[in-house]
Amino acid sequence: MASDVDRLAGLIKSSNYTVVVTGAGISTEAGIPDFRGEKGIYRQLGEDRVMRIINIDFFNRHPEEFYEFYRQYFEFPPVTPSQAHYRLAEMEADGLIHGIVTQNIDNLHQLAGSKKVIPVHGTANVFICQNRKCRKEYPDDYVKNYAETVPRCKECNGVLKPDVVLFGENIKNYMDAREMILDARLLIVIGSSLTVYPLAGFVREFSTSFQDLVIINKGPTAMDHAALLKIDTGSTGQLLTEVYRQLK
Ligand SMILES: [Zn+2]
Repeated sequence: MASDVDRLAGLIKSSNYTVVVTGAGISTEAGIPDFRGEKGIYRQLGEDRVMRIINIDFFNRHPEEFYEFYRQYFEFPPVTPSQAHYRLAEMEADGLIHGIVTQNIDNLHQLAGSKKVIPVHGTANVFICQNRKCRKEYPDDYVKNYAETVPRCKECNGVLKPDVVLFGENIKNYMDAREMILDARLLIVIGSSLTVYPLAGFVREFSTSFQDLVIINKGPTAMDHAALLKIDTGSTGQLLTEVYRQLK
């Protein structure tokens, strides 16, 4: 591990534009279940069923059933960011990393203090009125405390939708995310097996033009062959803490 720490610290030090891509693995360290993991709902309920319900068409046609399901499986327990989230925010404040593209919807990077975050799948703690003329935003507390299953806007009575990308919807900030990744001199992927597109495609595209790809993940990923450095660990927080200590 010591040499991994040295190498990663060295790469960050010599890069003038470092971007971090994060997936579910960084949030499991904060206590958030990985939907696609061993005990995740995709395995428990079957991917077909999840994809059918967490779907924009289903949401539009059956908001009641959608919310029964969503409230049961997708409401996060209150969690705080992990050490890894905090280290990344500190590194950004020190100018060591320049931005984060995340697949996670838990808002933990923002809570930890990261400023430049592109959440390509949206954030689950915000709900938006679906009336196009209104589009008022509500915090998750409003929805959790709402008396009925389907939360509605208090101004126009429109149905509220979680501000997350459902199946059948496009990712958010597609161009911004791609641009930030391709502009990187050093790209560090944390906690993603790099199988979910289009983000996995951006990383693949990056790796064809530059060499400095680092992957930190527990278990193999689809891009290990292209990585300059692959660190197999489930304690990213400890790893980044040691790296940050060297860089300071
Ligand atoms: Zn409204």
